[in-house]
Amino acid sequence: MKEIKYARRNFLQKYLKLVSLLAGSGVILSLKSNTSVTNSNKTRASKNQIAQKLVSQDDLKNPCDDLSKVSAEEIAKRKKLAYVSQSPVENNQCANCNLFIPAPEKPCGACLLFKGPVSPEGHCTYWAPINE
Ligand code: SF4
Repeated sequence: MKEIKYARRNFLQKYLKLVSLLAGSGVILSLKSNTSVTNSNKTRASKNQIAQKLVSQDDLKNPCDDLSKVSAEEIAKRKKLAYVSQSPVENNQCANCNLFIPAPEKPCGACLLFKGPVSPEGHCTYWAPINE
């Protein structure tokens, strides 16, 4: 009878250890997944803050300079191509570029190279003449 009692006690002790071990690992895994979600939210928030800083630095008098709805990645593309809303090169403007997408009856068009508003008077290093 004693052996059966001890055997049951041993079984219960092992079972409880296993249950507590599994519960502990589950808690650790859920904490880790919550941490990674929090980190991705922080990364997204910091990207939006960078985009907002870039927007506030631009001259918002021109509606084509409003980048509030443009992602940080697209703003980075603009900067990489040295896009400016006023072309420094005479006769080389977005309006006469092969990559410009005009928007009839709107002040801003678009460009095939990046998202967001593009001024018809703008310019970037990829300016290409319209093939006629
Ligand atoms: S490629 Fe450059 S110059 Fe041409 S439309 Fe796009 S931003 Fe303007």
